[in-house]
Amino acid sequence: MELKPFDNKVWLSSPTMHGDELKYMTEAYETNWMSTVGANINEVERIACEKIGCRYAVALSSGTAALHMAVKLAGVKPGDKVFCSDMTFDATVNPVVYEGGVPVFIDTERETWNMDPAALEKAFEIYPEVRVVVIAHLYGTPGKLDELKAVCDKHGAVIVEDAAESLGASYRGKQTGTFGQFNCISFNGNKIITGSSGGMLLTDDPEAANKVRKWSTQARENAPWYQHEELGYNYRMSNVIAGVVRGQFPYLEAHIAQKKAIYMRYKEGLKGLPVSMNPYDAVNSEPNFWLSCMLIEEDAMCRQVRSEKEALYISEAGKSCPTEILEDLMKYNAEGRPIWKPMHMQPIYRMHGFVTRDGDGRARTNAYIDGSVVDVGMDIFNRGLCLPSDNKMTPEQQDMIIEVIRRCFE
Ligand SMILES: *Cc1c(COP(=O)(O)O)cnc(C)c1O
Repeated sequence: MELKPFDNKVWLSSPTMHGDELKYMTEAYETNWMSTVGANINEVERIACEKIGCRYAVALSSGTAALHMAVKLAGVKPGDKVFCSDMTFDATVNPVVYEGGVPVFIDTERETWNMDPAALEKAFEIYPEVRVVVIAHLYGTPGKLDELKAVCDKHGAVIVEDAAESLGASYRGKQTGTFGQFNCISFNGNKIITGSSGGMLLTDDPEAANKVRKWSTQARENAPWYQHEELGYNYRMSNVIAGVVRGQFPYLEAHIAQKKAIYMRYKEGLKGLPVSMNPYDAVNSEPNFWLSCMLIEEDAMCRQVRSEKEALYISEAGKSCPTEILEDLMKYNAEGRPIWKPMHMQPIYRMHGFVTRDGDGRARTNAYIDGSVVDVGMDIFNRGLCLPSDNKMTPEQQDMIIEVIRRCFE
């Protein structure tokens, strides 16, 4: 196969519009419902409830805003420790800090790359007082929800589910975003469907939904003037953005089917290489396949070192590493990305508690100075990468990408 750079960049995951988005945005414009009230907002909230299977959805300006509201609803107070997924995007965790909470990170399991229930159980032994657990579903793959929920129930903890990446994914026939008391989805530009921005708080609790409607519109009391008894936020979704979301929702299933086809094509195309795809529980769950990722076998890794902001590797016959593959993909105008760097390795959070399944019964801060102790999250970060997963990528383009990866191992 002759390889040459793509004329048009193949993205990791970019917005895919279908036409109706413009119709609903125009409708907002022509009827002058250009603010945070209107038919598009009402409609996207209705559709979200219907598709996801929750009772209430509150449309907000971002997934991060939705998580902030969820953390507030869960009652996190200054100084409270909160258990959080470790291998995730930092938007999962930051809202805990907005409320003065202190994230404690729970290591990752290898079967779905999500929060490890055994490590979570361990964490409750160390911190029995914790009452809130924030669980993300990485790259659209549902975590071990039965096990996680059992541990949380046993310890009387509230679950906040971060389903920002996993909209449309399901676990035992139920959609992610319905397993916690207060849950969130995102319509950011790179997600499976997008509003250009936006997010939603999902819950079955009518009081919680009403609180978020109030808080997200500056917490105005029912009075003739601006009357305030509580702290408010400007977090409501715009009716114009909601028009984009409204146009996208009918295509959620189509996008998932495209993303699944991409995942399967990689799986097939990478056969014979010392790599595996990001794993999922095929019996109990159906991911939305938002991002396809791969993990390089340990003995097929060439030497790679990463400082805080740079990476170096030494090329070796028959071996490769994420840095080499990402650089080669870039040469051909295709965008991959490193695995989300775990929170316990981030400068802002590295002094926070971090609990692994076979830790010594104490939460450690991150002190792997000699690199001799490697936890699961760090290991997946070292050996894994996100592959170009754009649903507009053609099979021919994907075959070229697969060939680029193959040549890295020659
Ligand atoms: C995208 C994302 C968010 C935040 O959503 P925004 O709409 O971008 O604020 C939160 N958590 C995870 C895991 C995400 O990937």
